[in-house]
Amino acid sequence: MASTTAFEPVIGLEIHAQLRTETKIFCGCGTRFGAPPNTHVCPVCLGFPGALPVLNRRVVELAMRAGLALGCTIQPRSIFARKNYFYPDLPKGYQISQYEHPIATDGVLNYEADDGPHAVRILRVHLEEDAGKSLHVGSGDSDGDRHSYLDFNRSGVPLVEIVTHPDLRSPAEASDCFARLRAILLAVGVNDGNMEEGSLRCDANVSIRPEGQSELGVKVEVKNLNSFRFLQRAIEYELVRQTARCRAGERIVQESRQWDEAVGRTVSMRSKEEAHDYRYFPEPDLPPVDVSDEWIAEVRDSLPELPEARKQRLIRDYGLPPADAGQIADSPSLTHFFEATAAASGNARAAGNWVTGEVTRRLKLDGGSIDGAGVTPGALGRLLAMVDAGRLSGSAAKDVFESMYGSGREAEDIVQAEGLSQIGDEAALREIVAVVIGEQTDAVARYRAGNEGTLGFLVGQVMRATRGRANPKLVNDLLRRGLADGGGE
Ligand code: ADP
Ligand code: MG
Ligand code: ZN
Repeated sequence: MASTTAFEPVIGLEIHAQLRTETKIFCGCGTRFGAPPNTHVCPVCLGFPGALPVLNRRVVELAMRAGLALGCTIQPRSIFARKNYFYPDLPKGYQISQYEHPIATDGVLNYEADDGPHAVRILRVHLEEDAGKSLHVGSGDSDGDRHSYLDFNRSGVPLVEIVTHPDLRSPAEASDCFARLRAILLAVGVNDGNMEEGSLRCDANVSIRPEGQSELGVKVEVKNLNSFRFLQRAIEYELVRQTARCRAGERIVQESRQWDEAVGRTVSMRSKEEAHDYRYFPEPDLPPVDVSDEWIAEVRDSLPELPEARKQRLIRDYGLPPADAGQIADSPSLTHFFEATAAASGNARAAGNWVTGEVTRRLKLDGGSIDGAGVTPGALGRLLAMVDAGRLSGSAAKDVFESMYGSGREAEDIVQAEGLSQIGDEAALREIVAVVIGEQTDAVARYRAGNEGTLGFLVGQVMRATRGRANPKLVNDLLRRGLADGGGE
């Protein structure tokens, strides 16, 4: 193949999402993360012979929610199968998973991005149980230094696997798609979105093909990516690696690889030749999962507004810029916070600005979530109303916000106590403006010579002299007038 061939990336995602249930999929054990090892276990999830699984009804409902939110068709009958393989963290010797007959099929994820509309087709959504966790300790440098521990708390935790068609064409698009999917699962209450705890993880299937070719290339699967950044970086690396191989006339080997963040590379886990033959067969201990039309309709009716629809509503009803609207709409609690702030302030755009700006910045700093924000929407709204009323400058408002945050104090009290009230008194400001005009002879001369841009500098000088407390609009007017007065002579 000519070394100048351009290649097109082709990417499909397989996403594992833990369902938000109190108990496991086939037994009554709890699902809470972080419990002491092997304390949430019973004969069923430990795979004791003769222990029978009983399907958790809530799990079926959540899988339907996920499927419907992704525009899928819910199958009236789905069937569990045994996926057989040996691994120490899989005590039964098989994983119970839906295979040929998944609960939901043929959906589509539609969304509007900066570069236009995207439609990523969803192949299937199926139910399965999670495996236990292995913990490998020690370097193996000396004999007896290496130990593996097993924790079965995760064994039997309910998951849905969501599989997309290979519709994605760049690492950024794949990462964005994963983010949208996460937002949808959060919005419908199916998943908690916690990627660090592993409740949401993604496998990326990556291939390349010569530009213009319709046939798919050989794919490589990168397993278990648990952050948007890792997903994007792993795909970027794979594309470079595969392109180099193709250019060198080498073949791509179908295999599973793992992202090694420390060295910024994917490394091979196993090739197709070593792939398991899972010997799937229908699970004899579980009946087919039958869902009635009524049940499907009930679940459909109970779905809340989805992030993309919400984003369009925020743009339409509040006049928010698309970027702000998208950021807010991705989180139900942030949307709630924004709407309450907009109502309390009477200024939706300012509320959007602050929620995506200062509030988000503060939350990141503390590593907290909006539900635990150190300020209520009402208090923030009252602060913004003071700015609107001309009582507080924008920069003073940021200082007030800092003092409010986490203290429970009201903006009004802080402004009174710290004398931050905006100087709206014209006479007082005119004096300061006169002093600045007197001192800044160079800038004044340049302005009068026609360099309008110098005005910004002079406004800045007045703001500095008032510690940011002057009303910028008034300063502007006074400066223009003051400069014009002396200019004509
Ligand atoms: P497998 O049988 O190997 O699991 P599937 O057809 O079920 O393969 O697809 C698994 C995932 O791989 C899906 O997300 C799909 O979009 C993606 N995929 C399939 N073929 C390719 C390809 N040639 N390049 C990139 N992704 C692919
Ligand atoms: Mg697969
Ligand atoms: Zn159990």
